[in-house]
Amino acid sequence: MSILNAERIILKTERELEVLEENARLLADILVEVALAAVPGVSTGELDRLAERLIRQAGAEPAFKGFQDELHPRPYPATLCASLNQEVVHGLPGPDRVLREGDLLSLDLGLVRKGYCADAAVTVEVGEVSPEGRRLVEVAWGALQAGVAQARIGQRVSDISHAIGAYVRKRGFFVIRELVGHGIGRKLHEPPQIPNFGPPGRGPRLQEGMVLCLEPMIQTKDGPIRAGGDGWTVVTASGGLAAHCEEMVAITPDGPRVLTGWIQEEIWRRRK
Ligand code: MG
Repeated sequence: MSILNAERIILKTERELEVLEENARLLADILVEVALAAVPGVSTGELDRLAERLIRQAGAEPAFKGFQDELHPRPYPATLCASLNQEVVHGLPGPDRVLREGDLLSLDLGLVRKGYCADAAVTVEVGEVSPEGRRLVEVAWGALQAGVAQARIGQRVSDISHAIGAYVRKRGFFVIRELVGHGIGRKLHEPPQIPNFGPPGRGPRLQEGMVLCLEPMIQTKDGPIRAGGDGWTVVTASGGLAAHCEEMVAITPDGPRVLTGWIQEEIWRRRK
């Protein structure tokens, strides 16, 4: 989802962190279940309904449904963002969008519970995908891990950005430059914005109590993004494939704590 420009980074208390972690765990379990249901012949509309049902069963509400901001004056109509192949983010699910063998499907999902948000994304290989597609997901995942490794007290926000960007560039792929990671709490998008490229050593210092969504969005070809025409879907202008992984990370004295618990890895483990 897009980002509002805002000011202050909101530090979370221990109690708030507990709720954020509960929510992150619930979201991770739901996202794994939705990802495992993404097989050839299933529509993204069906995945959307499954995601909404699981979120409500958990006593939570979808975070994206009805979302709007100055860039998106029309409320987001679904629970799930389901972006296929050259779609980067905010793919609108629908009954006519039926998954086919070889599709690369990124699933971005958010929920709200007890007044706090959770937000995460994975990219799912539908059946057997091309070697390039598989590698793209692995690099998005590796880039996320490289970013998390920088999520330590005393580092700066752009140390995360730099780690992600350098990891992707070294492996011959390209980050999406227009979209960023973000803080999260009572609001889905809080400061700081976290680009996926740039020089290290810039921006606010990371402090205990920050909770950040790190989310590399990467593509096989270099270039900008463009609007897909339905008011929400964002696609690569080059027509290259895109992948997206996102986890919630708390900055703690013991180092980065991945509140969502490495969802992409869990999906690979469960699919074997
Ligand atoms: Mg996000």
